[in-house]
Amino acid sequence: MISHKELFLLNNAQTSTSPNMLEIERAEGLYLFDKSGKSYMDLVSGFAVSNIGHRHPRVLDAIREQLDKYLHLTVYGEFVQSPMVLFAQKLLSVLPEQLNNVYFTNSGAEATEGALKLAKRYTGRSGIISCHHAYHGSTHGALSVMGNEDFKQKYRPLLPDVSFITFGRLEDLELINASTACVIMETVQGEAGIRVASADYMQKLRAKCTQTGTLLILDEIQAAFGRTGKLFAFEHYNIVPDVLLLAKALGGGMPIGAFIANRDVMGVLKENPILGHITTFGGHPVSSVAGLASLNLILEENLVKDVTAKGELFRSLLVHPLIKEVRGIGLMMCIQLDAFEQVEKVSKLCAAEGVIIDWFLHCETALRIAPPLIITEQEISTACAVILRALDSL
Ligand code: PLP
Repeated sequence: MISHKELFLLNNAQTSTSPNMLEIERAEGLYLFDKSGKSYMDLVSGFAVSNIGHRHPRVLDAIREQLDKYLHLTVYGEFVQSPMVLFAQKLLSVLPEQLNNVYFTNSGAEATEGALKLAKRYTGRSGIISCHHAYHGSTHGALSVMGNEDFKQKYRPLLPDVSFITFGRLEDLELINASTACVIMETVQGEAGIRVASADYMQKLRAKCTQTGTLLILDEIQAAFGRTGKLFAFEHYNIVPDVLLLAKALGGGMPIGAFIANRDVMGVLKENPILGHITTFGGHPVSSVAGLASLNLILEENLVKDVTAKGELFRSLLVHPLIKEVRGIGLMMCIQLDAFEQVEKVSKLCAAEGVIIDWFLHCETALRIAPPLIITEQEISTACAVILRALDSL
């Protein structure tokens, strides 16, 4: 009989010539289990999604309850669907008051698309500024603001009027001017290999956008919901974006994204012409109840509280002659090595020992560490011991 692995390679479109090929049967909390029952610590959280761990019982209960009511009803923005209403209400209650209007999408890339369109509509300008090594998704608009030409050149022409600055470089902020519709930036750069800018830079960025009437879009699709040690990463800098992008951990394991702005800004999408952004499934009822349950859990159990200390514990344990640097903030971290070959070997050795780590789209010489926030000190010690043993054997 043909195996699932063979079928996967044959029938499912492949996006690389060397997929991971792990076949997981079940997931719970920090752990993934394969068909043989072997467990794996998920140190990447399905790429910054499972902040509360996999299949949290409160999320499962919320989903079950919604299954008995309705699934999809109609396109976004027509019927009053209480899952979306209640989720928006809760989400906005933990955000600064300027951010008081949310548009739910299917994914992070769709949130990026919506936000770029919103900035053009609201400002009447076309200039977009993004960062080198940025990642905001893989659709055409999002690809246009990706800061890596290797992934883009074969898809050109892309969006016009997009220019790039270096994340964290103060001089580049001079490029923001009265023809710039928006600056789109990850509050903490993820796929660049976890880059953290200074508070001074982030505050000057905010000031420059305000001064030029440019919308500041902060992408926290990877960084939000406690990952950096604050509920939202912009809280580290005492600034508020004009548009906030969320996805990944937003749904507690279910697919949903959002772009959030002030009601006055978002208002341009509703007339002249109407339907400024259309989505069929955006804010799906099941994803919304899962997201609400997840956010309530993060808040009630104060899952953000220990994130900084857990990150510090990783740092104190990850000491090895081959480690050049452990970079990041909270539990959004990376281990900088010298070469991709080392990264690949360590990842494989760790997987064999039951620890899942990975690398980054724009930084293949560093290992990604982004475990569920619920990881315990004991589990951190175990995981680090496995990583160090793998490094020893290089
Ligand atoms: N923005 C950032 C910072 C991301 O890390 C990602 C995904 O990795 C995206 C946007 C795109 O999100 P999605 O894969 O849901 O389209």
